[in-house]
Amino acid sequence: MKLATQLIHAAQPSEPGTGAIVAPIYQTSTFEQQAPGINAGYDYSRTNNPTRERLDGVLAALEGVEHAAVYASGLAAENAILQALLRPGDKVIVPPDVYGGTHRLLKNVYEPRSHVIRTVDYSDLTTLARTVSSATRIVWVETPTNPRLLIYDIEAICEIAHRHGALVVVDNTFASPVLQHPFEHGADVVLHSVTKYLAGHSDVILGAVLAKDEAVFEPIKTLQNTCGAVPSPFDCWLALRGIKTLELRVKRHTENAFAIAHALKGHEAVARVYYPGLPDHPNHDIARRQMEGFGGIVSLELEGTVDDVREFVSSRRLFKLGESLGGVKSLICHPATMTHAAIPAKTRAELGLTDTLVRLSPGIEDAGDLIEDLLEGLRSVRPKDREACLAGHRPITRKEGSAPARSAR
Ligand SMILES: *Cc1c(COP(=O)(O)O)cnc(C)c1O
Repeated sequence: MKLATQLIHAAQPSEPGTGAIVAPIYQTSTFEQQAPGINAGYDYSRTNNPTRERLDGVLAALEGVEHAAVYASGLAAENAILQALLRPGDKVIVPPDVYGGTHRLLKNVYEPRSHVIRTVDYSDLTTLARTVSSATRIVWVETPTNPRLLIYDIEAICEIAHRHGALVVVDNTFASPVLQHPFEHGADVVLHSVTKYLAGHSDVILGAVLAKDEAVFEPIKTLQNTCGAVPSPFDCWLALRGIKTLELRVKRHTENAFAIAHALKGHEAVARVYYPGLPDHPNHDIARRQMEGFGGIVSLELEGTVDDVREFVSSRRLFKLGESLGGVKSLICHPATMTHAAIPAKTRAELGLTDTLVRLSPGIEDAGDLIEDLLEGLRSVRPKDREACLAGHRPITRKEGSAPARSAR
């Protein structure tokens, strides 16, 4: 079965008994038993629930493996992986521009518990090859990266990690199962923030872990019941509904991102367009090889002052200012003061995460309308006098950026 058919049929039979084409929401906490310990496969919804089990089955089919478990958020899924797989002293390797919440989880929760967290730039795999050792338990990959949309070579990373017996975990949120299949490139574990493209309508927070081997999956799945970070049946049902149109949506998101990248490249108020589909993107060749499309996110380095950029992101008609991505309605974000505010200014500068960088998550609206909305805003972004700007430049502070107390979402 091809993906478009799987999205409708895989693990989604009509409901036995009633014939309902769409399975009901089993909004129940517990299940009646015939005799103590004798039941129809369900006893308590933290342990298992038919609606959640359906979502597990659909996600496993889409990523082409047997094992899936859904969690109350993408971060709960990440935590389950780390908690289940790490032994004291184990080393985790992450790239520098990993999702802000992943960075915070590793630094604030795992590093203080004597796990060694090493940051390595995967653009240069010789450094990775030198850093991986028998003490490495997990090599964590996220590709495309956020917000610069670098593409890392999953197969080459797996080859290095597996030589030392390390597991490779791939955060496949940005690509979704439509555009990238990490297991086919050797990944051991795949995770999703289902909140984003999979659910796709900006109406739920959900996460998922998928694994190839039973031995890797079993301890992760056990933690779902033991620690209890389970999603509600209703949220699972919303995700099941959203997933039916995943391919249609991701294709449209990608077309829109592609159109925007081409329309804005070379615009006098745009210093740089980050999009893996542009031939001059540094990882364009890996993206062509590894992905089935270049994805739905575009980032822009704008000319003009920080104030111009703040005005630009705050006053768009169609791109709503907000964190998150992958929903049907277009979103715009200012990483320096929003998603990446928790990263120290110095590190942000090293990563090229400037105060004039903007991330776009185009929705499924008409591409022409979206481009018009952006062009209209760019009219008031004045290409800056480079000299004056460099002389007067200082990084934006938290206060100016009015960053929220809990940043790095
Ligand atoms: C949003 C996101 C997460 C975290 O998922 P939540 O559902 O918000 O907990 C993890 N990784 C990536 C790449 C994300 O975009």
